[in-house]
This record gives sequence, structure tokens and C-alpha cells, in this order.
Amino acid sequence: MHARDLWLWRIVETNAERVSVEYGSDLDADVYGSGFGLYPRANYDGNDEISDDVMSRRADADGDGDGDGDGDGDGDGDGDCDSDSEDGARRHAWDFSELVNHPSNILRVVGGDIPGLTRPWIYFGMLFSAFCWHVEDHYLGSVNYLHDGAPKTWYSIPPASASAFERAVRTIVPTRVHDTPDLLHRLVTLVPPGVLRDAHGVPVFQTLQKPGTFIVTWPRAYHAGFSHGYNVGEAVNFGTAEWVPFGRAAVEAYVTSSFKRNAVFSHERVLLETGRRHARSFASPGGVSDEARAPWIASVARMIRDDLFTIAREQRTGRDAALTRGVRVSADDDCLGGRVTHDHEVVCAECKSMPYLAVARCETCWKLKDHIELSQAIARARAQGKSAAGAALALGNDRAKGAPYGGTTREGRRDLNRPVFCLKHALGGACGHPARERVVNTRVDVREIEDLARALGEFVGPS
Ligand SMILES: [Zn+2]
Ligand SMILES: [Zn+2]
Repeated sequence: MHARDLWLWRIVETNAERVSVEYGSDLDADVYGSGFGLYPRANYDGNDEISDDVMSRRADADGDGDGDGDGDGDGDGDGDCDSDSEDGARRHAWDFSELVNHPSNILRVVGGDIPGLTRPWIYFGMLFSAFCWHVEDHYLGSVNYLHDGAPKTWYSIPPASASAFERAVRTIVPTRVHDTPDLLHRLVTLVPPGVLRDAHGVPVFQTLQKPGTFIVTWPRAYHAGFSHGYNVGEAVNFGTAEWVPFGRAAVEAYVTSSFKRNAVFSHERVLLETGRRHARSFASPGGVSDEARAPWIASVARMIRDDLFTIAREQRTGRDAALTRGVRVSADDDCLGGRVTHDHEVVCAECKSMPYLAVARCETCWKLKDHIELSQAIARARAQGKSAAGAALALGNDRAKGAPYGGTTREGRRDLNRPVFCLKHALGGACGHPARERVVNTRVDVREIEDLARALGEFVGPS
């Protein structure tokens, strides 16, 4: 072990010294700028084969009609307007926007509104700035680049030993796990690697990241580490074909395990939308195109196909069960009666899962809540000497726009006045109203999901 490592763990384990460390972490690269920077074309060394190659493949493959692979129409593939064309400058070939927008990154359909997940984050560290044991949201992969400064020590645990690691943490800090079930996701636990290895038999690997090098973490590989001095790093998440089953396991673990946490996006939505995009992009009139023979295209198609068949099975079972119990099931393109068409991130009030394809609710409770809100709005308007009709109209407009789901933060959207439920908890909430007053609004027909899965099978070939 490096001398700095021994020093850090002595501080952590003995608790004898008080050390104060600052860490400029999780800074949105779209706001603060990417460490990769922009390069004036005139000074560019001309070695851009990789970048142009990726760009042309993206143009062929993306199928969103604008040929740039990101659906935003500006042609730079990064979902914003600040790069290539301006001043003739272009992004560095290693810039994470290449990875983020590549069609093999299943995560790209999540959209660019989640910093750190679909947009890079910048990190400024100092001696002993630490990142504690964690896996990525939804067990995603991550890529981390050290731009400059002192090295970072990384500790990592193979995905196959993730459960062993979680058991060990429960043993080492049981009270903390009990008080904070999402302990491992709050990035606050520094369990010494020596203790994990020697007392619990968890394999822990270690490496030193120097400036100019990448560290890639694989799905569900726990990792931790610290800086040896002032440095600047950048990181972003990604999801390859291999990630898909991990992503499913993650959302299941979010609901059931003792290491609870909230989902960040709907797994169902990402798989369905990526599947649709994949099928559209690589379809050719005469059957499977040459392009579809590229290995990653087949492996993405295979993983999405398999997951979509699982999703279809779950939906069929869940919808049938709801019907059997007397709940109405109604196909509704404007999911939830037109209220949340723009927001696919509703959360089950019972289990915190994100039920994109079928959302259950008690219509009676919703109507009562609507009535109360209307009365309150009218009373407020009257007290201010304003028109009651105007207040009612304003409330109606808010609702049409998706309120109360129109919160601008993800946390805001979860603070629901009108609870919704996943299929498993279609009768959840214990409001006392009978099942027939409940409705399940379905967004996509199960057969459509199965058809898409079969269409994706065309890219897989005989297996
Ligand atoms: Zn639920
Ligand atoms: Zn009710």
C-alpha cells in the first residue's frame, strides 16, 4: 500500500486526528465547462479520424431524421449549441459527449437533464478528498478521467462480490445501515479496504490513477478512493448492452433490499424507447442491413429484446391481476387523463418504483382532491377581491399542464398530492375506497411491446 493510503486509513480508523478536507464535487460540465475543452480548428493536429468515424456512424445509425445522432438538430451530437461550429473550434476526440451520444449507449435516451448521469460532472480534489464506497445509480457503468494534478487512489470490488461487500458493511456498521438504509448510496461510508479483505474475505483491488488516464467502472462494481493532492477530474455514466440485466436488478433492489434508494429514471421507459430507436435505426427494407451485423448492434438488440419480453410478461400478469380484482384497466395515451403526458417520472407511492407503462390510481380520491383545491383557490381569490371564475380557469390550466406533477426538480415530482401506484400496488394506499373506483391507465399495449421485442430479434440472428 502507498504511504498516503496508510496515512488516510490510520486517520479514518483511529479517529485520533481531526482532518478537514474540501472537495469540489459534482459540478455540472454544461455549466462550468468540460475539462476536455475546445480546440481551434487551425491549431488542431488533424488527427481526427476517430471522431469523424464516430460522427459518420452516428449519422448513419441514429434514425432520428436530423442525422446527428442526438435528436436536437444542431449537428454536434451533444444536445447543446456550444461546440464545433462556434469559432471553428471543435471538441476533443476524448470528450465524453462522444460516449454519451453514441447509439450503443443505452442511457442516451434518458435525456440530457440529469447532470452526472447523462452529462459529465467535474471534480476538484485536494489531499484526502475522498469518494466513499458506492455503485452508480441503476448500477450503471462510469468513466472517469483525471485531467491534471495529483493522482487518485481507487479501490474496487468485482461485481460478483457486490453482495458479499454489502453483507460485510452490514456487519461492520450495523447501526448505520439500520438508521440509513441507503447508506451506501449517500457516499458517506469509508470502510477500510484492509478490514473488508482480511476480516470479511471481500476481494478489494487497488490502482493509482495518474493525470491523462481513464478509470472505467463496470455495472455494480463498488468503488471508493481519494486524491493525493490538488487535481481536476471528470466523470459520466453510461449503459452498454451488458448493463441491461444489471439495470433491472438495480430497480428490483431499490424496491426490496435493505440498501434502499429511489430510481432516477424509469427502466421500462429507457428500454422501450431505446428498443424503438434501435429497431428504427437499423431496419432496412430487405431485412437485416450490413450495419446490423456490427457486434454491438446485435448485443444491444439481444439484451433489449430479452428485457422487453420480461417487461411484457410483467405487464400482462399485472394488468390481468388488476382486472381480476375489479380495477378498471384503460388504455390511455394521455396517461393519467392528460395530466402527465410530459412527465414520465411518476413514482409509486408504495414502493417508489417508476411505473411508466401502467399507472394505477384511485379516481375518487383524485376527484375529492380536485374539489378541495378548487374550493381553496376560489376562497383565496375572493379574499383578494379577484374573480372566482378566473381562479378556477387558472387552476384548470395548471392541471392541463400536468400540475401537480409539474415540479421542476425530481424530488418535487415525488411530492405527490395525488398518489399513483405501480401494477404490483394497484390497490395500494389504503384509502378505503373500493377497487372498482380504481383505474389503471396503460400507456402501451402489451402486444406492441412483444412485437417490438420480436422485431429486435431480427438483429440478433440465429443464436
Ligand atoms: Zn409499487
Ligand atoms: Zn380512494
